[in-house]
Amino acid sequence: MSSTINPLANPKGVKKLCILCQRPAKLQCANCRVTLYCDPDHQQADWISVHEKVCPLLVSIHAPAPFHTLHADREQHHTEILKKQEELIEIAHLEAQRWVSSKRFHHAIPAALLFLRWAVQLYGPRSVKLVPAYLLLAHAYIGLDSMSQAQEYLSKAEWAVMNTPGCSPIVLHQLHRTLGRLHAATGKYPSALFHFSSDVYYASEVFGLESTETCEGYFLMADVFLKQNKPDITHSLYTEVAGFWHAHLCRLMERISRSGTEPEDCFGEAQCVEVDQMLRCILDFEEQHKKPCSDLSAILFHSLAMLWLLSNNYSKALEYGKKAEMLIEGSNEHNSMREAIQNLLHFAEKHNIDLP
Ligand SMILES: [Zn+2]
Ligand SMILES: [Zn+2]
Repeated sequence: MSSTINPLANPKGVKKLCILCQRPAKLQCANCRVTLYCDPDHQQADWISVHEKVCPLLVSIHAPAPFHTLHADREQHHTEILKKQEELIEIAHLEAQRWVSSKRFHHAIPAALLFLRWAVQLYGPRSVKLVPAYLLLAHAYIGLDSMSQAQEYLSKAEWAVMNTPGCSPIVLHQLHRTLGRLHAATGKYPSALFHFSSDVYYASEVFGLESTETCEGYFLMADVFLKQNKPDITHSLYTEVAGFWHAHLCRLMERISRSGTEPEDCFGEAQCVEVDQMLRCILDFEEQHKKPCSDLSAILFHSLAMLWLLSNNYSKALEYGKKAEMLIEGSNEHNSMREAIQNLLHFAEKHNIDLP
């Protein structure tokens, strides 16, 4: 932390509140001097979540405006500040999203709160642009098992959507997905399924049926069927999801081998971990609930190998690739998959050695 903790000069003065919990503040960030905290723990939590990335921006947003005699100069200054505020919202949004994707829900909250606070300031308290912030907060609180807080943010999101005629399908997809998560987490399975199917409907409208976003809705539905003790439906949905990801990763691999470039930027770290968890969850289910089906397992191991290869982790790619190869050994089918796996192993071995 480059920002040191400074006690406020006048803690008994006007009400100064902690940015995270609204209790009276005793500390402020020594760098931007506009962010206040009740204690070092909250300062540390905010720093890790988002403050390190936005502190310099806050300094420039809060810098006193230079004296301009011309109206045009004042206008330009105003536009620049507005641009910086939008940038701040964007950073806070991305950081909250990243923490939620990697299931580090505690870290997501300060970033999502900052996102919400600035979105309110810029777009007003009733804007539909607040919905993504409400949904990130709700998702994080579901992850932390704080259902009443999750419910509160979801109600605000629903309210904003209800008051926005012609709301975009992307917002509806996100709203239904988060509602589905809440209902699934609280054991209301029929309504969870209703929301996930609405989620899939709107996601396919925006991204198409054959998209990673839509596919995640199916994965979430499969989990609800499993909780309802319907392993056969779970199995058929998981088979769809596994098939989708296998085809998607094969296409990405093909694109790389055609262009002859190194794999890069296919997946962010958080997304790679998320997909890895999803594929391994399907593998675990198949091992526990179904007679071992080597075809599906081979597809899953091959997908995991491609996923890690595309994320430049060659040792993991080798580990999963070898498992996939073993599963289809001796079978006369799967010739094209065998060839793809052998190419992958060859590529991963070569690059694994090249690593320093
Ligand atoms: Zn606090
Ligand atoms: Zn600061």
